[in-house]
Amino acid sequence: MKTINDFNFQDKKALIRVDFNVPLNDNFEVTDATRIVSAKPTIIKILEDGGSCVLMSHLGRPKGVQDEFSLKHIIPKIEDVLGVEVKFASDCVGAEAEEKANSLQPGEILLLENLRFHDEETKGDKDFAKQLSKLGDIYVNDAFGTAHRAHASTTIVAEFFPDAKCFGNLLAQEIESIKKVLEDGEKPVLAVLGGAKVSSKITVIENILDKVDHLIIGGGMTFTFVKAQGGKIGDSICEDDKMDLALDILKQAKAKGVQVHLPVDVIAADAFSNMANTQICDVTKIPDGWQGLDAGPKSREIFDDVVNKSNTILWNGPLGVFEMESYDKGTIALGNSIANATKNGAFSLVGGGDSVAAVKQFGFEDKVSYVSTGGGAMLESLEGKTLPGIAAIMS
Ligand code: AMP
Repeated sequence: MKTINDFNFQDKKALIRVDFNVPLNDNFEVTDATRIVSAKPTIIKILEDGGSCVLMSHLGRPKGVQDEFSLKHIIPKIEDVLGVEVKFASDCVGAEAEEKANSLQPGEILLLENLRFHDEETKGDKDFAKQLSKLGDIYVNDAFGTAHRAHASTTIVAEFFPDAKCFGNLLAQEIESIKKVLEDGEKPVLAVLGGAKVSSKITVIENILDKVDHLIIGGGMTFTFVKAQGGKIGDSICEDDKMDLALDILKQAKAKGVQVHLPVDVIAADAFSNMANTQICDVTKIPDGWQGLDAGPKSREIFDDVVNKSNTILWNGPLGVFEMESYDKGTIALGNSIANATKNGAFSLVGGGDSVAAVKQFGFEDKVSYVSTGGGAMLESLEGKTLPGIAAIMS
């Protein structure tokens, strides 16, 4: 696996695919610069080597050229984060981009306009990728968030750099941390899977059954498993057509020696509302008219015990409807347990959309070993798929 540390960038132009798909407010100001900050180590290493950087990214989902999706809006924030002036090309390909890239001096940065202003980007068009490839000497992919897409800038462009392509610092860390859990994890290995639906996590569950010793299943998924085993779940969320699958997962887990832990009690509510009446219920005895919206106190204790005896922990998906204060306790308790286990030497990886949001919201970001930056890319990695953006650098 080649990374930026295998190259000396002196007098070289690095063409870097970054993920600067950052949120903007109505005044087009960046409201969360995490993704820019995450790309900083790669950019700084290249500049310090005496090289220059041509940065390419997408922003949002524009239909053709739309000013609101222009990357020019984020230039002040990039300059702020990097402490370096940023030049800009108003199209990511063509004469202007080529001239500006050609005249770039060591230590300088050029930002290209939104790649998705061209349809060819998401189509993975080869000619478009070839035009992009003219803008650098070495191709660096540092965008994990789009590594599961075979787009021109994430995958196809690598073909034009057979001996001069590598992973940036961020993408290398993402790959390492997933490997640390799924391949080299120190036992016992635990996966905590929460979130709303079994159907969206099924391939992940099937893939990780071969890799883990313990599996905690929480969140809305719980109730499909509980009902399938004959429990009464009241009005809780359930996928009736996935009940056979749930039983099959439990059977497979048993055959593979994986211990599955489901909540034993829940916070049940008489409406899907923060203001609803609530009661603590046995997970198999939820009255009609009530729905389980969070893990109960006994479950939190059991989960705490499992987490604290694990040496490797993967967390994907909240344990309850954490967006509402009345049902955030299970997710917060789990975050605390994982933070504690991490402090005592466990490796913990948090990945996949909503658990990342929860970790940030409740301040666990610095208390776990690694928080992944890519939702879809993370899920596909956990499903055991080879991501095209990663394969393109490896080949
Ligand atoms: P996912 O995107 O699959 O990780 O699902 C995350 C969503 O699951 C969050 O928005 C949670 O509010 C929701 N969720 C978690 N637990 C429950 C539950 N018991 N009932 C309904 N929704 C839930």
